[in-house]
Amino acid sequence: METLSTTCVIAGGGPAGMMCGYLLARAGVDVTVLEKHKDFLRDFRGDTVHPSTLQVMHELGLLEDFLKLPHTRIRTATIEIGDEHFTIGDFSRLPTIAKFIALMPQWDFLDFLAQQAKKLPNFHLLMQTEAKDLIAQNGRICGVLATGPNGNMQIRAGLTIAADGRRSILRDKSGLKVNDLGAPFDVLWLSLPVLPGDPADLIGKIRDGQLFVMIYRTDYWQCAYLIPKGGFDAIKADGLTKFRNRLKSIAGFAAGRIDDAIKDFDQVKLLTVTVDRLSSWARPGLLCIGDAAHAMSPIGGVGINLAIQDAVATANILSPVLTKGVPGLRDLKRVQKRREFPTKVIQSFQVAAQNAVLAPTLAAMKTPEPPLLVKILNAWPWARQFPARFIGMGVRPEHVRLPKR
Ligand SMILES: Cc1cc2nc3c(=O)[nH]c(=O)nc-3n(C[C@H](O)[C@H](O)[C@H](O)COP(=O)(O)OP(=O)(O)OC[C@H]3O[C@@H](n4cnc5c(N)ncnc54)[C@H](O)[C@@H]3O)c2cc1C
Repeated sequence: METLSTTCVIAGGGPAGMMCGYLLARAGVDVTVLEKHKDFLRDFRGDTVHPSTLQVMHELGLLEDFLKLPHTRIRTATIEIGDEHFTIGDFSRLPTIAKFIALMPQWDFLDFLAQQAKKLPNFHLLMQTEAKDLIAQNGRICGVLATGPNGNMQIRAGLTIAADGRRSILRDKSGLKVNDLGAPFDVLWLSLPVLPGDPADLIGKIRDGQLFVMIYRTDYWQCAYLIPKGGFDAIKADGLTKFRNRLKSIAGFAAGRIDDAIKDFDQVKLLTVTVDRLSSWARPGLLCIGDAAHAMSPIGGVGINLAIQDAVATANILSPVLTKGVPGLRDLKRVQKRREFPTKVIQSFQVAAQNAVLAPTLAAMKTPEPPLLVKILNAWPWARQFPARFIGMGVRPEHVRLPKR
């Protein structure tokens, strides 16, 4: 079996893994990132790049080039309850260099990070290479077993980082305990065409027990239709016509585009929502970050942001140790200590929103009364910066603290 050696091996080339790999390599650590797919092309992965991530890109000196890539800028958040419109978020007052959410295909974001990282001699990206198991020696993790284009391999490392997403195989193999916080809904993703005169906005719609989110993507609308957990089979059994009628009743100005756009259930992608968190993010030699440590609900579209923030904190805390030797469990626990609080706050908000708003709305099949908070935000533009701050920057934003080496 082929054997490779590196200082830090990262399983997963998503936002957490690619950013962490780039930052560690930039700080002088030898890093190998494994990504099981042959490219970053995947649909509906979540394409929001939040102001705090744009701030990190700015601190890395990458923002100007990054924003040359095609993207849409979202500056306000709007919600429609029945026939009433409410503006509830305004990103233009944030204390960040970029006062908007950039919507960009996630593969463009990851490709960009990969291009920057590949300029560093100590960064290695192995595509089509899937981590299968952990290598343990005397109770310590010292690398991974993987399968690549040329067969099985072992990658030995002083530190293994599991950034392989919410179905993390390394987290399963680690024996670390997962707490499932529950999610009463799933999401159906679909695309609708954009027509001249459409608003360039992020629009949430609530009507007759249905929830629909439309995200303006310049040449199409990325749409999320929320359904009760496990409800997709029943929707398919009812047939396409009934499903299209449901969409038409909630899609507002885009209702007339449904019949032409949705010809088959193959154009509708089910994403099963999970919200969970590890009790302990680390064991000797292994650290879990991003969704592997805490799968996020799509509410607020903050999962990528949290994954990036974990990556920045990991690099800030561990690269000074990794440039000298092997981090101990106490070093790894410092990452959890730093990131667990922001994760808990955001997940608590997501769980409260899904239990207090989403689940009752999906069950009641009627249009709810607009909550008082929504009315206040709509009436008082100044207050809209606070939800924008919570969503756009999160709690305890991370900053790049490492010089480039
Ligand atoms: C329905 C839905 C919609 C969402 N929408 C948004 C949104 O709009 N905005 C937002 O910020 N967040 C959104 N999220 C959450 C977001 O997708 C995640 O929180 C975020 O992508 C986590 O990043 P990550 O790097 O930790 O994991 P991932 O993005 O899952 O990346 C993990 C990577 O590891 C690779 N991998 C997996 N297993 C292995 C292995 N064994 N070996 C090697 N590679 C492996 C995968 O191919 C993948 O590239 C959404 C989530 C859901 C469920």
